[in-house]
Formats: sequence, C-alpha cells, structure tokens
Amino acid sequence: MDIILIIYISESTRTYMTSNNTKSDSIQHNPSCMDDFDPASIDAKQALQLILNQVDSLNEKEEVEIREALNRTLAENISSTIDVPGHTNSAMDGYAIHSSDIPLENTTTLINIGTAWAGRPYKGEIKKGECARIMTGAAMPDGTDTVVMQEHAELDGDKVLIGHANQAGQNVRQAGEDIPVGGQVLNKGKVLTPADLGLLASVGISKVSVVKKLRVAFFSTGDELRPVGSQLEVGQIYDSNRYTLHGMLVRLGVEIIDLGVIEDKREAVEQAFINAADKANVIITSGGVSVGDADFVKETLEKIGEVNFWKVAMKPGRPLAFGKIKNTWFFGLPGNPVSVMVTFYMFVQPALKKLTGSKYQAPLMIRANCQTKLRKRPGRVEYQRGILTQSENDPTQYKVIKTGAQGSGILRSMSDANCFIILSMESEGVEEGDNVQVLPFDAII
Ligand code: AMP
Ligand code: MG
Repeated sequence: MDIILIIYISESTRTYMTSNNTKSDSIQHNPSCMDDFDPASIDAKQALQLILNQVDSLNEKEEVEIREALNRTLAENISSTIDVPGHTNSAMDGYAIHSSDIPLENTTTLINIGTAWAGRPYKGEIKKGECARIMTGAAMPDGTDTVVMQEHAELDGDKVLIGHANQAGQNVRQAGEDIPVGGQVLNKGKVLTPADLGLLASVGISKVSVVKKLRVAFFSTGDELRPVGSQLEVGQIYDSNRYTLHGMLVRLGVEIIDLGVIEDKREAVEQAFINAADKANVIITSGGVSVGDADFVKETLEKIGEVNFWKVAMKPGRPLAFGKIKNTWFFGLPGNPVSVMVTFYMFVQPALKKLTGSKYQAPLMIRANCQTKLRKRPGRVEYQRGILTQSENDPTQYKVIKTGAQGSGILRSMSDANCFIILSMESEGVEEGDNVQVLPFDAII
C-alpha cells in the first residue's frame, strides 16, 4: 500500500488585514498566483523529491529485438557468453612476426610466407625467421605475437626488412580485451543508446528484456478550448496544451492516449478521470487546478483518489496536483501554456523516467553570462526562457539572453528558447553582465 503524504495549508489561515478599517482595506487578501511569496508554497526541489519518493519502476517487462530497444530501459543484467574480440588479432595492416625476431640493433630480414585476412585466417604456423602479411582485424597466425606496421617495414620480393625499434606484443588486440566471457555488458536500468545496441550486437545478443512502455493518458480542461480547425467565438481559444504535451510525451517514447478536452463540469471531469484511470499508468491534465469556480481537478481527485496538492514556489507554474486514482498516477498541471511545459519538465518528466525504470539524474546545468537585465522579485524560483550561445572568443564561455516577454501564457518565449535561465528564490533580478545558472533544453529533452 502506498503512503501518500498530504500537504495542505488552508488559504483562509493567511488573511491579511490593514490597521486602517476602511471598507476596501478590510477585503481579505489571500495569497494568489500573482504574489511572489506565498507562505503556503513548497520548494520546487521538495515537490520533486516528494514525487520521486513515491513513484517506482513499472514492474512489467517485454522482450524486444535490439533495434526496437533504443531509448528503452533494460530490465535485466546482460553478461557476455563470448570473448570480444573472439580471437587475438591485428590492430594494423603490416606483418605478423615472432617477437624474438626483433633485432637488438640495426635490422633483420624475415621471409614472408603467406597472408592473414580479416575473416580469412592464415592456417599454418609461422616459424622463427618467418612472417606473414596481415590485415587489420585478422586473427594472429600461430607462432606470432607482434605486428610490425607496413609503414615500418621494407618489402623486397618475399623478404621483409624490419628494424630494432619495435616492441614485443605491439599492434595486437588480445582476445577478450574489450569484454571477456562472463563479463558484464550492460546493467539493468540502463536506457539504451545507439552505442549500447552496437555493444549488444558485438556480443551476439539479438533480443533483450526491457521495461514495458508507459501508457500515458492526457487531456485538457476548459470550456473556452476549441480544437484547431474550428472557428473561434468571443472568449474562446485553441487548445494548444494538448499539442505541447503530445510533443513532450512522444520524445519520452511513451504510449500516448489523447483523451481530448473535458468541459468544466464536475460530472464530466469525474467521468474522464475514471475512464482514463482504467486505460493508463499515468494521467496528465492541464488547467482547472487552481481555485476558480470552474476548477474541478483537485476536488475530483480528492473524491475518487488520493491527492497531494501543492502550491510550488516557482514561476511560471505554482499550482500542481499530484496523486493517484487506484493504481494510476495523476499529475494535474496548471493551464497556462508555459506553466504546463515548465511543470512537465520539472516534475512529470523525472517521474515518467523513474516509472520506466531509469534512475533519476539531475540534469546538467551551466553558468552563463547574462546579456539582458532580468527583472525578478524574491519569493519563488523562476524559469525564464533564454537563448544560450557560446562566446565567439572563448568556446568554454557561454552567454545568454532572455526571449522577450516572459508571461506564463506567452508560448513564443518557449518556442524561441533553447534553455531555462534559473533564478533562485532569493534572487532580486539580474543586471546585464551578471552570471546566471542555465539549464539547456538539450539536457532535458
Ligand atoms: P486554468 O488553470 O484552467 O484557469 O487556465 C489558466 C489559463 O490557461 C487560462 O487563460 C486558460 O484559458 C489557459 N489554458 C487552459 N488550458 C489551455 C489549453 N489547453 N491550451 C491553451 N491555453 C489553455
Ligand atoms: Mg480552466
């Protein structure tokens, strides 16, 4: 049984009144998403940790051909049943010799008695005073242990002249030096890369067991949303979040179940949740998660499942519902298009990766010199969108500028960007020329 930690701080406990008792001044002032500091908010790092503490790798595996295993998580340890390379072989084109034939000084002449090709070994034995022409990758003929590069030998008919500046055993790859029989090839939990597919092929493995693809259902909530291709009436907008989410999920290689748009009605939201929980391992919603009269996500999750609702001290972002309906994990993201993307990358993506069996690794970040002034008030961590480039004079130095207006609804700020500029909770803004912490999109997508 999973234990769900519920952090919920009533908003009405945070009522601010002024000492002046005029009517307008006595209106309550609860924290809102416009405030920078909200005492009921939790840290973004803490929110991620609370999520990662709960989710664990899916326990379902399947066997796939190695080509199909790219980007999938290995569900077994793989060890080798063969030596790689299988035979001691030459690392160079040249002459295979016996090391005791290397002269102590000056030169010596050996008789060339045959050729060893890659894939077509020389069958006989090479005796002292003899040598064989050998190609890169060819098995070393019996009696030889050293290869003299052809550039360091002189050929005269069937005679080969070699010098004293050769080392015993040089230019030879020993059987099993890459991977010995029984040696570990790859560990369970590894997300397979192109190099891994090659490595598996090099030890003769054609199929591997991988963690099953996650099934992720998602939908948008909101009466104002219309599908692309339809006409907009006053107050309506196109549903862009479903496309953004589709794109982010495709990149993660999960199985996608797009459940469309759910209207802002209690019964519709509840029915959609029940339906999605039957189909998927994870449900993601956007919108309807804050405190408006049409926001039913949190209360529905409370009714039919388990819920952690946090206001996370971040911008954009803030409201985030995380929980479970039966065995299906649930992420209720905010509605604003940039907030959806930031909360997805910060919380949902690490959780989905952990669910598919890979270990959480904090993304690599770099320091860059900020070439635009950035406004910010203390109280929450900010993920401003930026364009990161290498300095022209020094490729070890980076510089960054912000991508125009940074409102949480301005999706162009994400589209133009290649990184997040992360400004800490305490930061009071950045002057032109200050160094900032940058998270390149390449590190998270
Ligand atoms: P909500 O959290 O539902 O109040 O939504 C916050 C803002 O995000 C509102 O301006 C919504 O119109 C907008 N929004 C919500 N869902 C979407 C969506 N799927 N596509 C684009 N904008 C959305
Ligand atoms: Mg809404």
